[in-house]
Amino acid sequence: MATGVLTEGEAEELHRLLVAERAQLVRRAAWLEVTYQELVDAADLEPPDDEHDPDGTTAYERAQVGSLGRESRTRIDQVGDALAQLEAGAYGACERCGQPIGFARLVALLGTQRCVDCSRR
Ligand SMILES: [Zn+2]
Repeated sequence: MATGVLTEGEAEELHRLLVAERAQLVRRAAWLEVTYQELVDAADLEPPDDEHDPDGTTAYERAQVGSLGRESRTRIDQVGDALAQLEAGAYGACERCGQPIGFARLVALLGTQRCVDCSRR
C-alpha cells in the first residue's frame, strides 16, 4: 500500500488510524442524531409557544447539536476520501502544490489534503 510519498509501514499505520477515526466519527454522528431527535421530540411535547421559551434554550441546543452532526458528517466524508485515496495508493501529497504532506502531519490531522504551507494560505 506504499503511495510514493509514504512508505509501506507509514501507509499501513495511517490506514489503521483512518479506519479507527472513521469508526469513532460514525459513532459520534449516530449519537448526535439520537440526541437531536430527542430534542425534537422533547420540543414537540412542550406547548408550541416559542415566544415564551425562557431563553430559547431548546432551539439553541437543537441548533448546536444539528451543527455538530453536520460537522461529523463532513469529517466522515473527509476521512473516507483519504482512506479511498490511500487504498488507491494516491494519498499523502498536497492537493494544491503536490508536495508530500509529511507523515507526522497526516497522523496529527487525519484526512488532511494539504501541506502546512498551503493550509496557511
Ligand atoms: Zn501544498
